[in-house]
Amino acid sequence: MIRAINADALLDPGSGELAREAVVVIEDGHVTKAGPRRSVQVPRDAEAIDASGLTLLPGLIDCHVHFTSLGEGLDFARELTTPPTFELMRAIRAARLTLDAGFTSVRDAAGSPAGVRMAIDAGYFPGPRMFVSVSALSQTGGHTDAHFMCGADLDIPLPDRPHSVVDGVEAMRLRVREVIRAGADWIKLCTSGGVLSPGDQPHHSALTLDEIKAAVDEAAVQGRKVMAHAQANAGIKNALKAGVATIEHGIWLDGDAIEMMLDGGNALIPTLIAPHWVIRHAEAGKMPKYAIEKARAVIEDHRSSIRLAIESGVKIAFGTDTGVGPHGSNGEEFLLMRELGMAPIDCIRAATTVAAETIGMKGVGKLEPGAWGDVIGVAGDPVADLTLLSKPDNVRLVVKGGDVVKALSAA
Ligand SMILES: [Zn+2]
Repeated sequence: MIRAINADALLDPGSGELAREAVVVIEDGHVTKAGPRRSVQVPRDAEAIDASGLTLLPGLIDCHVHFTSLGEGLDFARELTTPPTFELMRAIRAARLTLDAGFTSVRDAAGSPAGVRMAIDAGYFPGPRMFVSVSALSQTGGHTDAHFMCGADLDIPLPDRPHSVVDGVEAMRLRVREVIRAGADWIKLCTSGGVLSPGDQPHHSALTLDEIKAAVDEAAVQGRKVMAHAQANAGIKNALKAGVATIEHGIWLDGDAIEMMLDGGNALIPTLIAPHWVIRHAEAGKMPKYAIEKARAVIEDHRSSIRLAIESGVKIAFGTDTGVGPHGSNGEEFLLMRELGMAPIDCIRAATTVAAETIGMKGVGKLEPGAWGDVIGVAGDPVADLTLLSKPDNVRLVVKGGDVVKALSAA
């Protein structure tokens, strides 16, 4: 099956060039040609897709989502009455909403077992291409320890989602092996406390340097990299010293941490929108009090930290932590990145070329021959107007592997 998408323009995020009167040709799911119509020969038997009025660009990539989290606030009573199967099925809805927002690839930062990725790949339900990290490993009392002071524990280990809590070097080695056995593409660690967890603080580090190193080593042996939920300065530095690949959130970066990231070529995934959603949910009465206080306390430091990283030239990859906020709201992050001084084309690169390189997913983030035919269309030039990517309604066309998965009629 050959398809040709004809549009007003085509943006190549890599070069930043905008080609007018463009076409993308997709054969059996993969791009064969893309560029101005005058220079691209379209096979005669190609089925035409009319995207007039739209600018095409590669499908977007979110490097930090949680498909099995609801994204509608935090309610422990609700979680206690949610069976694991229902929690899992939240991913079906999240996958659709994320795709509709123009995100055709994601890295799930824990929660989704590998079966979600497998079901999407098998065509059971529509969703983005996925990398999964399955379980977010943290120490006893750490960010993902769901054992409450009353004795209840919300984190029941499942055959395909190993237990999150791990202490000690040898235990860490075993747990990383178990997470990889369960199908993880990435290993997720929590090297600091966080906002939504009741028992810890974002500015405290978590896991020892040796525990983090053990995880990085075990992951590397099996060709995996480590992503670190790292908010505290010491937690960020431990993670970098131990050799993790990506820093998630990065609320308290300083000059030394920035230098370490520049030297190591590490990417930062800011998730700027996440604390905003905690506060919005709180204002709607859908958040415990401790989380509101923590979110309010970190939000300004978070902005300063990310601004410093942007100014210093740290590699920034797009990530939102949706699952904290509602699925499909991913694009709002672009506006916050822009606010902190990122050029619009760099914001778009963060969610295409840079994101693809950061998570190591092949054939995504650009529309070169051989890449997946993942294309989105917006009504105008997104470099001139980033709001075109900020809301699902503004994303008029979504094509994944050459198949139209969303098409809105002209507004
Ligand atoms: Zn997260």
